[in-house]
Amino acid sequence: MRSSIPEISTDVLIIGSGPAGLSTALHLKRLDPTWTKRMIILEKESHPRPKLCGGGVTRLGLNTLLGLGFRLPLPIPAVAVNDIALSYQGKTIHVKGDPQIMIFYRPHLDHFLAQQALQQGIRLFENEKVNQIIIDQNEIHVFTAQACYHTQVLIGADGSNGLTRRFFRPSQSHPRIARTLEILQPSPDNDLMFIQQRAEFDFTSLSQHNQGYIWHFPTLVEEQPHINYGIYDSRTNPHTPLPHLAELLKQANNPHANPDSPQLHGYPIHCFSPFNKFAMERLLLVGDAAGADPLFGEGIAPALAYGAVAAKTIVSAFQTQDFSFRTYRQNLANSYLGRYLLIRWFTAQIVYRLGKFNWFSRTLWTIGKGLGAFFPPPPHLPK
Ligand SMILES: Cc1cc2nc3c(=O)[nH]c(=O)nc-3n(C[C@H](O)[C@H](O)[C@H](O)COP(=O)(O)OP(=O)(O)OC[C@H]3O[C@@H](n4cnc5c(N)ncnc54)[C@H](O)[C@@H]3O)c2cc1C
Repeated sequence: MRSSIPEISTDVLIIGSGPAGLSTALHLKRLDPTWTKRMIILEKESHPRPKLCGGGVTRLGLNTLLGLGFRLPLPIPAVAVNDIALSYQGKTIHVKGDPQIMIFYRPHLDHFLAQQALQQGIRLFENEKVNQIIIDQNEIHVFTAQACYHTQVLIGADGSNGLTRRFFRPSQSHPRIARTLEILQPSPDNDLMFIQQRAEFDFTSLSQHNQGYIWHFPTLVEEQPHINYGIYDSRTNPHTPLPHLAELLKQANNPHANPDSPQLHGYPIHCFSPFNKFAMERLLLVGDAAGADPLFGEGIAPALAYGAVAAKTIVSAFQTQDFSFRTYRQNLANSYLGRYLLIRWFTAQIVYRLGKFNWFSRTLWTIGKGLGAFFPPPPHLPK
């Protein structure tokens, strides 16, 4: 059967056109325009595709977009958040910045990035799902219903539930999988969150054994104001009973709760740990496949930033003809992204292991409020 489908050879094949896959391709193209014809992206869906996500992009992501030559604000609807409110049992730490994060509707953001890649001549084949991967010593073979691809290097940008991460399972006995539940509901445009340009993270559920928080984001869906809210459970300490997330969300003091709101949707997030495996011979992981920030479950900005580190590593591999990718871990560790994820991982270990103790969380918020007063907001982002 397979012999009847076309066989296509390429230097680099990227599975997934989320922020990680698209950023890797755009960075490769930026490093050397000849890469445009040396890579292919395969995407099982077609943009704009549905994607469960809060859509918050922090400065790490915005700076990565600037580094790719995009101008801010991007020409798609977004809410600029200037005040992040981190609260615990009524105590609130405000983190200010102009903007601190931009909130996008994820299908819009990914569609925009995909269009940019296509306009730059990058081959992105949509509605083409990868069904099977065979790793040989000299090549990787990737099978879809439409074709068989032979590639020198495979990039796993296929997210938390992807195929590529499975190659690392035997050596990674405890994959770090966080849980989320999300609701997206219409809201009046005079909602205080829009007026005050505020996003909220409420960590009160720490005291109910949740290793995470409840979020509320103002967002625009087809230009219409909506509130995106949900609950995040990092499972940093996997040896504790699973809290009932839907119940915790229902119990929370939530001014946006609406009995007529649409159903809750859940999705896992594969989290970063310094013990994760990021690469093997000819295969390199980016974005959620490699690991998102375990503290907030933040994955968009890291996914964009993984693309920059991956692109440099790929170019160097082709220059030296060494496809072991042994340097990728070190390249990540030396990058701003590596330090960012490591700090978030370390903080998650402390906060989510000790957060169940009320004295710990209350002290943390008291110290945080005090420290917050000493840190000036970050400089404005260049346009
Ligand atoms: C409820 C929820 C809320 C979140 N909120 C935020 C937030 O506010 N801010 C933030 O920074 N992060 C957030 N995240 C995390 C964020 O969504 C992810 O970290 C981010 O999407 C990772 O990007 P990625 O490119 O690695 O993977 P993805 O965006 O998941 O993209 C992977 C792509 O691969 C494709 N694919 C998968 N398998 C195949 C296959 N076999 N063949 C071809 N294509 C394939 C998929 O269709 C998809 O397009 C949230 C996550 C959840 C679940």
